[in-house]
Amino acid sequence: MRILVINCGSSSIKYQVIDALNEHCLLKETIEKVGEEVTIDKALEQVVAAVTDQTIDAVGHRVVHGGDEFSDATLIDDDVVNRIEKWTSLAPLHNPFNLQGIAVARKLFPNIPHVAVFDTAFHARMPRRASTYAIDKQLAEQHKIKRYGFHGTSHNYVAHKAAAFLQRPLAELRIISLHLGNGASTCAVEMGHSTETSMGMTPLEGLVMGTRAGDLDAGVVLHLQREANLGVDEVDQLLNRNSGLKGLSGIGNDLRDIEAAAAEGDDNARAAIASFAHRVRKYIGAYASTMGGVDAIILTGGIGENSKTMRRRIMQRFGFLGITLDEDLNHDAEVSHEQPVICISEPHSRVKVLVVKTNEELMIAKQTLAVAHKDVEVENPGPIPIAVSARHIHLDKDTFAELFGEDAELEHYKDLSQPGQFAATQKLNLVGPRNRIDGVRILGPLRSKNQVEVSRTDEFVLGVDAPVRDSGRVKDSAPMTLEGPKGTVHLEEGLICARRHIHMHTDDAKRFGVKHNDEVEVAIVGGPRDLVFGDVLIRVSPGYALEMHIDTDEANAAELSKNSDGQLVYTDVLGANAQLKIKHT
Ligand code: AMP
Repeated sequence: MRILVINCGSSSIKYQVIDALNEHCLLKETIEKVGEEVTIDKALEQVVAAVTDQTIDAVGHRVVHGGDEFSDATLIDDDVVNRIEKWTSLAPLHNPFNLQGIAVARKLFPNIPHVAVFDTAFHARMPRRASTYAIDKQLAEQHKIKRYGFHGTSHNYVAHKAAAFLQRPLAELRIISLHLGNGASTCAVEMGHSTETSMGMTPLEGLVMGTRAGDLDAGVVLHLQREANLGVDEVDQLLNRNSGLKGLSGIGNDLRDIEAAAAEGDDNARAAIASFAHRVRKYIGAYASTMGGVDAIILTGGIGENSKTMRRRIMQRFGFLGITLDEDLNHDAEVSHEQPVICISEPHSRVKVLVVKTNEELMIAKQTLAVAHKDVEVENPGPIPIAVSARHIHLDKDTFAELFGEDAELEHYKDLSQPGQFAATQKLNLVGPRNRIDGVRILGPLRSKNQVEVSRTDEFVLGVDAPVRDSGRVKDSAPMTLEGPKGTVHLEEGLICARRHIHMHTDDAKRFGVKHNDEVEVAIVGGPRDLVFGDVLIRVSPGYALEMHIDTDEANAAELSKNSDGQLVYTDVLGANAQLKIKHT
């Protein structure tokens, strides 16, 4: 499967032909001075001429802004083009050129699928608390003002690479990805999903970049307009093109030149380097707290991959977070196509620090293949029964004894659908800082760890903030007080908002073409309202019966009725091994 990947920018067209299955780049070119010496049409005709001897199966287009409308790579048709056009006002320097590239390429390659891969897609499901600016809600909605985030293709790719390198499921990791290039951004990747990122409505927010200022008090813009008499375009030019490393150093946007000048004693160059590193460190601390910890930190992009001195500046003095950089490994690390991931932390470092060579084009090629490849559609594997989990509690032996007395036994009330599981007659009260919820049922049998599962609505009633977690993963979750007939227990951790999941027997997993820890989308059918749940986790065990578990809030949103079933839409198993997205019709 040969994929032509086109990145059509304002002044250049970069393209590659990639064999997406064996990850070989067959051709790589850049056409410069597009718009000046050559039109986009002419430039793309050059591309066609260059790839004639390569049989192209599909074209993948990089599209910068897909707003919150595109959370996955999407097959391009006229409707999709119109929808991309809607977001042009938020990315005037990028989307018009991406769209022009799409229009010309569709004419030149009319008989093969074209797929749009969005920089924003990976962040499209970012939690609301991270994507919202605290301004008037109506105005924000009207003008689509929110944080969209960019570099998503790169953050997604390097996170997959890191998980494969660490030989751990991405769904278990809390990663801070630092994409440090001419454009630079950070991303908190929690269980494979972007939950925070430093770029916002446009790629201007966040880190100090080559020519962009990054974070800035909005008051600065007002002040420049009022006091320095700068017009809109002048402020735009200042913040996007003449700030960042370039503005601070007065040398240019290339860190190599700035590092050389700093070594010669240039104070502006030193200040630029120090500001760059400081801003990145600030974000690392922030994301370690928003995720409640961190397992791995990734450095990528031109600076992250190549500047050992900047890596060292950024990663030093993080012992308090459990990070110990190995100076020698850092010094010697040279990532390459052959060795795209290198660990630069000491073996005992609790948090792994990895230098990862990013490859956005390969990721675009893989996603294009996944979307364009229709042959893998399989037969409808049948409906998935849905069960609504009311709030409930799992207890360990000691906690149960503290709450109900040494001699108490967990009493069977009724069987649950999962073999061996039962609802107990005993109930407990949850006591939160704001309110209490009485009479919450305990589920048996007793477990090795305490776990209290509540819905979002319950969280707000109790006045607590619980992380969304897979059942069983309670480390660093929220605290909760349990009140029983014989005692009160304060749990330091154990409160979670359970992640929706599907229990599957091993045979079911085969039939549905999925595996343990896959994430799928499930459409709810048979009810009054069409709703598709994303990020549904697959849990496979020979001891499970087929059933999807959602909480009461989710069931209400779906207006679930007795006739409702789940229908697998597809499995998004696009990971480091280039597996295909399997469509279930
Ligand atoms: P990117 O936008 O990811 O291609 O990154 C390009 C930037 O990486 C350049 O502008 C440089 O600032 C930086 N860079 C590349 N190589 C080095 C290096 N060996 N040392 C320091 N900075 C580098």
